[in-house]
Amino acid sequence: MHSFELFLPDNIKDASLRGGPNAVFKAAGTDLLDRLKERIENPETLINLLEFKKDLAGINPQAGGFDIGSLTSIHDIASSASLAGPEWRALKQAAETTATPQIRNRGTLGGNLLQKTRCWYLRSEAFKCLHGGRGPSCLAVDGENRYHSVMGTLDCMRVHPSNLAPALYVLGAELSTQSGEESNRFPIAELYPELPLASEAEHTLSDNEILTHIHIPAAVTGTSTAYVESREKLSFDWATTAAAVLLVMKGKAILSGRICLGAVAPNPIPCDQAAEMLAGQDASMELFGKVAAAAYAKAVPLAQNEYKIELGKAVLRDALAQASGLR
Ligand SMILES: Cc1cc2nc3c(=O)[nH]c(=O)nc-3n(C[C@H](O)[C@H](O)[C@H](O)COP(=O)(O)OP(=O)(O)OC[C@H]3O[C@@H](n4cnc5c(N)ncnc54)[C@H](O)[C@@H]3O)c2cc1C
Ligand code: SF4
Repeated sequence: MHSFELFLPDNIKDASLRGGPNAVFKAAGTDLLDRLKERIENPETLINLLEFKKDLAGINPQAGGFDIGSLTSIHDIASSASLAGPEWRALKQAAETTATPQIRNRGTLGGNLLQKTRCWYLRSEAFKCLHGGRGPSCLAVDGENRYHSVMGTLDCMRVHPSNLAPALYVLGAELSTQSGEESNRFPIAELYPELPLASEAEHTLSDNEILTHIHIPAAVTGTSTAYVESREKLSFDWATTAAAVLLVMKGKAILSGRICLGAVAPNPIPCDQAAEMLAGQDASMELFGKVAAAAYAKAVPLAQNEYKIELGKAVLRDALAQASGLR
């Protein structure tokens, strides 16, 4: 790890004003410090956002939904009594299945949404790939690609590793950020680049923009959600495929649905067309099978990751079955 200055800001505005190309924000550091130790990034300044834990951590009820501070730990989301209802279940399940108890205790929601891809070529100092302009080409195309994307790629086959992002998509979350004195609020979809090129970062925030809050709107009556993932190890592991779903139910009938896939593309992938197939139908495994097939209809595997397509469909069927009460 190269040496750096640790800046302890007094307020969010000062923190933001110190941001820039040679500085990086640090929350708990569980993702960032790995990158610094591998010398993948060598910033001159680390700006410690944990100075704002009092202001930016907590799950606060707001207009029937919640405002969650970006420094809220993943453990606090997983164990929150306020999020115990079926309408918020996807978020809790996504948090519960993230990483290890130690990482959940330290790691923050904001850091989870803004973490870098786990692509092993990018994470190793030994390799220089196209991401961030470090090398001439994507090494995953002809290399070891069993954990890489099966859809939504351009020139970089990375997957977005966040468990919590797909859950927040189906919940209709919005994010608040601050840059200097300017604040901004936008839907979670805008946090991720429309064209996930190798030259683009995993998120769209500028280098002096701080994520402050995540807003979850009130749920419609009859809402039920679920998050399911597949992974190689049961103890802890990143997902190989993931699905978050939201259903609005009246008895067995589905009034409307939302679906977002994780771990199969460079961004979380909302599947609006597949979700439309749910509206006006009675819940059944047959219906969920058709919806899952539609969600993965455009998937194109790399040499080693064809397994993700059938597995991903099964995971989505399972999430729909859980949310509908069939399982
Ligand atoms: C062993 C291990 C297993 C893991 N398994 C999983 C898993 O199964 N599923 C999963 O989803 N994740 C997993 N993770 C990732 C984990 O969830 C993240 O490391 C953690 O949430 C990051 O939070 P942090 O507070 O430590 O962020 P940091 O490491 O401090 O920051 C991460 C990035 O976000 C930026 N950042 C952080 N907060 C802000 C903010 N408020 N505003 C602007 N920029 C900000 C930082 O600049 C940095 O680039 C795993 C991590 C480890 C180490
Ligand atoms: S998938 Fe992206 S991060 Fe991984 S080797 Fe290819 S260009 Fe680099």
